[in-house]
Amino acid sequence: MTTSVRSLTMRFALRAAAAAKLEDGWLYLPCDKNPSLDSACLLVVSDSDDDPQAIASEHGFPSEGLDTPTIEDTVNAARQFQDSPSDELMLESFIYYWRFDAWLPEPGAPEPPPWEEAKLKWDREFFDSLGAERPTEPCHAEGCPRGAIHHSVLCWIHHFEMIRKEPCPFLE
Ligand SMILES: [Zn+2]
Repeated sequence: MTTSVRSLTMRFALRAAAAAKLEDGWLYLPCDKNPSLDSACLLVVSDSDDDPQAIASEHGFPSEGLDTPTIEDTVNAARQFQDSPSDELMLESFIYYWRFDAWLPEPGAPEPPPWEEAKLKWDREFFDSLGAERPTEPCHAEGCPRGAIHHSVLCWIHHFEMIRKEPCPFLE
């Protein structure tokens, strides 16, 4: 049972991940600002129950980055745009996932506005809470072929639109 830490730069971590040579661990960053390729970071490699976050904070790297499998996935996401992605593109892909929990849609993609992210998440949670449509109870909205959900005379979409008073962004 051991825990060890490695000091490295983002550039080194990304290149190692691209070569499938980054040790399995959690990468921590010095702060919540976007890292650059030359930013120092810390890889905590542990096969014990030690809390990697506490260890990283002790070493001056309080901001949780990503774990090794996820870093490899962000490199693979960058490979959709370049066979051998540049350091810059790998960094962009890493940062996009780190900040937005989403794969980089395209190189140079603008950041989603924060309110849009938050609102979409809130809408989604509401939508997911609506429960199943009943095939035997047609939705009362005119011409709608869907079934009404429980506790409503409307289907998912029309119930959502009645409550939120705007078009439902989910399903067609
Ligand atoms: Zn409907």
